[in-house]
Amino acid sequence: MTIESAYAELLTHLNRIHRLETVAQLVGWDEQVNLPPDSAGLRAEQHAVLAETIHAAATNPKLGDLLESLEDASLDLRDDERVVVAEARRDYDRATKLPASFVREKAAQSSVGYHAWAKARASSDFASYVPVLEKNLELAKQEAAYLGWGDRAYDYMIDKHDPGMSAAVISKLFGELKEALVPLVRQITASPIKAKRELLRGFPVTGQQAFLREVTEKLGFNYRRGRIDVSLHPFCSGSGADIRMTTRFNEDEPLDSLFSSIHETGHGLYEQGLPLAHHATALGRAAGMGVHESQSRLWENQVGRSRAFWRYFEPRFRETFAAQTQGVSSDELYLAVNAVEPTLIRVDADEVTYNLHIILRFEIEQRLFAGTLAVRDLPEAWNAAARELLGLVPDSDRTGVLQDVHWSDGAFGYFPSYCLGNMLAAQLWYAIKAQRPAIEDEFARGDFSGLLNWLRENVHAAGKRYDALELSRRVTGGELSPQSLLRYLRERYLPLYCA
Ligand code: ZN
Repeated sequence: MTIESAYAELLTHLNRIHRLETVAQLVGWDEQVNLPPDSAGLRAEQHAVLAETIHAAATNPKLGDLLESLEDASLDLRDDERVVVAEARRDYDRATKLPASFVREKAAQSSVGYHAWAKARASSDFASYVPVLEKNLELAKQEAAYLGWGDRAYDYMIDKHDPGMSAAVISKLFGELKEALVPLVRQITASPIKAKRELLRGFPVTGQQAFLREVTEKLGFNYRRGRIDVSLHPFCSGSGADIRMTTRFNEDEPLDSLFSSIHETGHGLYEQGLPLAHHATALGRAAGMGVHESQSRLWENQVGRSRAFWRYFEPRFRETFAAQTQGVSSDELYLAVNAVEPTLIRVDADEVTYNLHIILRFEIEQRLFAGTLAVRDLPEAWNAAARELLGLVPDSDRTGVLQDVHWSDGAFGYFPSYCLGNMLAAQLWYAIKAQRPAIEDEFARGDFSGLLNWLRENVHAAGKRYDALELSRRVTGGELSPQSLLRYLRERYLPLYCA
């Protein structure tokens, strides 16, 4: 077999796996958006069959043979082809190196874990959750060992979500961020100036729907290759040719649906900007969770919370909600958009304090994996960290250690991506501003195409060729660091709260 035909055959396999994965995603999207209440049983079986089919395709021994022959001929491959082969190898190893018995055990534990978490959270009963978390931690370490990361289990978990990242790198970045962010938050929250989000009440859902559709279209989301629907928790799924975003509506929290829609639109724009012909390979896939979050957060925060954005959209907002915005001044509206207040709950946090929630979780995960913190001592460690970082102490484990779903199915090492995304977003933002100093004037005219094209060219087009650290170097000219994020937060929030 020639190299060309081996490579072509590899692509055929990867395309098939990708198409199957998109079907599974569609079925998962439908479950959260449309599923009739008594149809969950069938849906679970559909998921199981699909997962089995995908696993069979991803572990096909033919794929292993093709990878081996392509790796042997590596010197004759083009750079792009080498990227595709390396990523396919990574996936193939992950799919084949875990014994079937382990995969079954983990899947079963994931379902047990979710229900145990939901029950423990409802009754704020951490003790009942301890054995589940201990088991999940054990399984994570076992998984790392199967994949050859035995002595670096936490790094393995991080690398799973953010290729190339490690606990040591994150530890340095977060340490630097924490040192400057804690006093900045104190400074902002000590201000007598407070946002009054309660001024925004009674916004009809139909108006909210129309407004966010207008906003997301203006930002550049292509509704001929995607849609937005309603679900309990907002998310974005699918592959660039068919993106499914969701939001949720509350008549008394119009900014919640708007900003979650802009956030998901950022994810959607990234997926739609990945090279269409290469969605099945590393050339057309997202670079990792941190980079993905950098896209959603850049649109949500740097763009959506800016003066320039509101200069264009405020008149449209007032037109759509004439009665509701009567008596709300422009400054009050802008301050509500940029409300900062420490909260115990991560998902309710503003963009300033949000990062502290992530630092808290990262520090705890590190100690869990190092064995210096026992699962049963988690609530105490959590509450101490919340007091130190947020100045708040949970009144129960429900608002403390039990608030997040992630650990219930063993998703350790996922949280840091959110904060890495914030750092990268700010760093990209200053790189864009250096190259297009008038970019905010474009926003004020309702033109976001300059920003989107810049991101398409510099971030989206690269697919998975570079990890977050390398992307930062190539696109922003500097190492990933918290300094841009700190600069951005100071520039946005100090004039508002501490002028
Ligand atoms: Zn996101």
